Amino acid sequence: MDTAADVDLAVVGGGFAGLQAGLTAVQAGRSVAILEARDRLGGRTKPGRLAGHVVDLGGQWVGPDHRRLLALAARHGVATERQFEAGAKLIEFAGKVRRYTGLIPALPTVALLEVDRTMKRIERMAAALAASAPWATQNAARLDGMTVASWLATQVRTKGARAMMEIAVRAVFSAEPSEISMLFFLAYLRASGGLEPLISVGGGAQQDRFKGGLHQLSACLAEEVGNGRIRLSTVVSAVEQDESGVTLRLSGGDTLRARRVVMAVPLALLGRIGSTPPWPALRAGLAQRSPMGSVIKCHVAYPTPFWRARGLSGEAVSDAGPFSPVFDGTPEGAAHGVLTGFIEGEAARQLTELSPEGRQEQVLRCLTRLFGPEAAIPLDYAENDWLAEEWSGGCYAGLMAPATMTGFGPVIRQPAGRIHFAGTESAIEATGYVEGALESGERAAAEALAALSLG
Ligand SMILES: Cc1cc2nc3c(=O)[nH]c(=O)nc-3n(C[C@H](O)[C@H](O)[C@H](O)COP(=O)(O)OP(=O)(O)OC[C@H]3O[C@@H](n4cnc5c(N)ncnc54)[C@H](O)[C@@H]3O)c2cc1C
Repeated sequence: MDTAADVDLAVVGGGFAGLQAGLTAVQAGRSVAILEARDRLGGRTKPGRLAGHVVDLGGQWVGPDHRRLLALAARHGVATERQFEAGAKLIEFAGKVRRYTGLIPALPTVALLEVDRTMKRIERMAAALAASAPWATQNAARLDGMTVASWLATQVRTKGARAMMEIAVRAVFSAEPSEISMLFFLAYLRASGGLEPLISVGGGAQQDRFKGGLHQLSACLAEEVGNGRIRLSTVVSAVEQDESGVTLRLSGGDTLRARRVVMAVPLALLGRIGSTPPWPALRAGLAQRSPMGSVIKCHVAYPTPFWRARGLSGEAVSDAGPFSPVFDGTPEGAAHGVLTGFIEGEAARQLTELSPEGRQEQVLRCLTRLFGPEAAIPLDYAENDWLAEEWSGGCYAGLMAPATMTGFGPVIRQPAGRIHFAGTESAIEATGYVEGALESGERAAAEALAALSLG
């Protein structure tokens, strides 16, 4: 044992993955320090204010399969509320706004049948992958050699069906279909049981929200870890490993010595942390090749949820954008109404250059086309541009372009000496979601604990 170590385990990152890793180690009786670059916990979850209520500017919904997250909320008495979905949905396609019900929008019959066929085919292809090693599937190299856009271009004939699939890809990945590999796309779906659960409200990833917001659960986790074990505003700039432990170089010139480390930062941010010895080649390559998605989340408050009186659920998608998808974000019991939605992929990259006022104008213009003139006069507006967040570098999660998953994916959970890797990107279940972050934190801490018990 290294008697000079300050702690058994140092955790880099105070998002849900890092906090869960810290908690797992504390519960095993180990000494722990969690180091977080921001002046707040929660990473890609974050509170904001809108019309006198707290809103989630980042992660918000929880699905029925997110058992770790639901258990955390239950431990702290944080209740969920059902995402409102009664009524018709809206789709803006080829310049027209139409109402529809069910999962698949109103399209000409040929396109509708093709969407149905394509969805079923994608579900079958995703289910055929091994969740923990999608790169080992028989046709992995072929699927990883093309983007989702190139697959759609050769496999989907109607313009309508292609547009629907593009909308679904943007909604799940906050990226264009041309940015991601078909293998990565299928593996991500596989981790959450398919495409349908990811784009659904009832029974899917958008089924419930937390009263008071998801972001508050990071503080609940921190309380369980012990706030004294967490250092905010502490950037880890380098890690130096030797035969007995790891020295972490911290902002302000401080150092910390740990026997093991869990890195719980997005894959893409690892490149900002120096390493001695250098990061293993495939780990460094994975960090270089896993860019974050592009998303700006916006909430718009109105004096009432006026769409409900017209039989609308508040759910809407648009092929013209830039605000798609949209959901009813009205908090239970509130007098006012809220529409919550996302600017994603290429639209986010174009609008990140605008001021918040400029973005608000574009969002309102889109909502007015969808919901009518009442949508033009909001009570309040709140947004968060995740592209501009230094310690996220984009969101929702890390993506993989062609040839990344097969070439570099196999090392995603492989430790580098005394350093173990967590973060939602490394999860086997619910990759990209808070549930995945918790799973990855548990797994990386378990690896570190097993190694610590060997001395
Ligand atoms: C707009 C938006 C909507 C979303 N919607 C949902 C949703 O509805 N449901 C859902 O489950 N998920 C959702 N997500 C995704 C979810 O928020 C993430 O999957 C999850 O929060 C990731 O947790 P993590 O701990 O893996 O990473 P992070 O939250 O990114 O945590 C990593 C932490 O590491 C810190 N860090 C980075 N580098 C350093 C360094 N060098 N030194 C010290 N600290 C460092 C960062 O500041 C950060 O706090 C959404 C995300 C966004 C942005």
